Amino acid sequence: MLSQVVELVDKKHRFMITSHVRPDGDGLGSGLALYWMIRSLGKDATVILRDRVPPAYSVLPGSDQVVVSADVEERYDAAFVMECSDMDRPGLPNLKDQFVVNIDHHATTRPFGHINWIDSTAAAVGEMIYNLCKALGVEVTKEIAECIYTALLTDTGSFHFSNTTERTLKIASELVRRGVEPARISQALFYSYPFSKIRLLGMALSTIERDETGRIAWMVMTREMIYDADATDEDAEGIVNYALSVGEVEAVAFFKELSPGVYRVSLRSKGKSNVAKVAELFGGGGHRNAAGCRAEGDFEEIKSKMILALQGAIGLAPVTA
Ligand code: 5GP
Ligand code: MN
Repeated sequence: MLSQVVELVDKKHRFMITSHVRPDGDGLGSGLALYWMIRSLGKDATVILRDRVPPAYSVLPGSDQVVVSADVEERYDAAFVMECSDMDRPGLPNLKDQFVVNIDHHATTRPFGHINWIDSTAAAVGEMIYNLCKALGVEVTKEIAECIYTALLTDTGSFHFSNTTERTLKIASELVRRGVEPARISQALFYSYPFSKIRLLGMALSTIERDETGRIAWMVMTREMIYDADATDEDAEGIVNYALSVGEVEAVAFFKELSPGVYRVSLRSKGKSNVAKVAELFGGGGHRNAAGCRAEGDFEEIKSKMILALQGAIGLAPVTA
């Protein structure tokens, strides 16, 4: 819990911070905010990630300090693991030898750390890190504010999703008072796409289909599309949301081919329909309205199973894998 984290930061000196593979706005924003907070206390912090920082997030102060590494090579006083539902999500095998502090807001997170601070009411881990900043008595500098604002903005879908609360907007307001320019952050995140992303979007959109009820939709992205669009896997980020923008559609799946017969599946839903439950059936996890998993095997089979499970999630049939 929060008091244990405060005590640890007060007592210890040398920290590492990590988050999940394919880092996103909340993992990076909250991780870098914590980095700046620890440094402003005159202590050591290193951010170590398995995957590089996607170019859009280079707007984040400190993103150029991130160490990209396949594993942890040194011993730290503690390792903060941000936004991860289990110990494997960071993709750093030796992390298990550190004193691990698990900070997350997923309802499905396992208490895998020596200290576990999990708050599923937080819209983003960024919200929790803001509270930590206050609890540590650290001034919210412009750097910290920009990192936390990015975490909030991305995890709430630009304040569109149901996790957006009065608390979220209050914190966002305080961050703007501390120097965040909302238009500058939005410009960097949502109006600076490479052309390849829009070409890929066009290809993926053209695959959209729906079930007989019209309440479930899905899209597919193949390796061939990535190649033809001259795109990267990072360009696929966010495409899933377009399927959910159809009025009657309540839950969607986006199948992204990783290699022949291997897929990453992004799931999204509206309202009370819980896609985290669906993802868990397939060994993944996430939030009620945004979750994901991996799936291997025959595509048609994976697709049918997933559609059936999604129909269950919106109350059409029992949820089964
Ligand atoms: P995305 O579809 O953007 O890859 O993932 C959406 C959300 O689902 C993530 O923020 C994360 O919470 C969750 N998620 C995605 N993939 C996995 C996975 O393989 N395992 C777990 N536990 N959660 C996942
Ligand atoms: Mn998050």
